[in-house]
Amino acid sequence: MSKPDPRTAPFGSLFTDFMAVAGFSNGQWSSPVLQATGPLSLHPAAHVLHYSSSCFEGFKAYRSPGGGAHVFRLDRHIERLRHSARLLVLPEPDAALLREMVLSLVDRVRAEVPEAPGALYLRPILFGTTPNVGAAAHPATEATLLVLASPVWDYFAGGAKPLRIQMEPASRTAPHLGVVKMGGNYAAALGPTLAARAQHKVDQVLFCPNGEVQETGAANFLLFRRNHVLTRSLDSTFLHGVTRDSLLTLARDMGYQVEERIVTVDETLEWVKSGEAALSGTAAVLSGVGTLIWQDQHHHVGDGQIGPVTQELRAALVAVQRGVVADKFGWLTRV
Ligand SMILES: *Cc1c(COP(=O)(O)O)cnc(C)c1O
Repeated sequence: MSKPDPRTAPFGSLFTDFMAVAGFSNGQWSSPVLQATGPLSLHPAAHVLHYSSSCFEGFKAYRSPGGGAHVFRLDRHIERLRHSARLLVLPEPDAALLREMVLSLVDRVRAEVPEAPGALYLRPILFGTTPNVGAAAHPATEATLLVLASPVWDYFAGGAKPLRIQMEPASRTAPHLGVVKMGGNYAAALGPTLAARAQHKVDQVLFCPNGEVQETGAANFLLFRRNHVLTRSLDSTFLHGVTRDSLLTLARDMGYQVEERIVTVDETLEWVKSGEAALSGTAAVLSGVGTLIWQDQHHHVGDGQIGPVTQELRAALVAVQRGVVADKFGWLTRV
């Protein structure tokens, strides 16, 4: 039977035949195994189902130009999952364990890593499995760590379209949990995002509590001008994107002034009269914003099209990710 084609399948809807799995019980992790991707057996009292003890990661492996494959910023993503696990009081996997799971999985399914502009999207997930509905105020003592792999294509294969974004005075999540990559934060952002979509036909909501710009439901927010990048400084209220960090590193290296500090709504609306705005994240890399809506007023970002700095930084990052330029910062792990 021929497999569905990643070029035409919706992002994240196809999976490789194998996934990597490890379990935590009696205070230790089991040796990881590769097994057929398919349903799990889970007790209905599992901690995650009742008390949302779960976090995840998302990053990509690419087909290398000279053959083989490589993973982009694997160590950063491993550290972020461990940080999420600590903040949710889940058993924290050793970096070496998760690294082995990812690399052995990519090795096993290497024939399914799409060529550019596709990639293999990797999705580790960690969740509490202790069967005890009385454990509301207790951490899970048993957990599962698994890594799924999904062949994906370029988000913008049909051409990049400038995004319409609604700015909302609401918070995306509890202030101390924005930094955790957890499904509960997505559930919290879904209602406001659907309401905004229905109201103004926007693509995303940019959360701006207390008049300060935070991030959208699943991407970081950056402002650009010629030789200047401005974005919110790191704190616990939002997710510290690896794409964000990579773009800031490349921009500095290209001679841009990179400013990280609190950015207000007022300042953002002033900036976009002549500057650019974009969203960053693993799935779509860097997406230009064409319109910002604030208190029912539409504000064009520049001329409403995707600007030159957005295009330049996106191209620079994609070249490193695909391995077509030198890996100057040691971001690629060969498989
Ligand atoms: C994953 C995620 C991002 C983007 O992070 P990357 O490491 O760049 O993929 C941004 N915001 C939220 C809420 C996320 O979950």
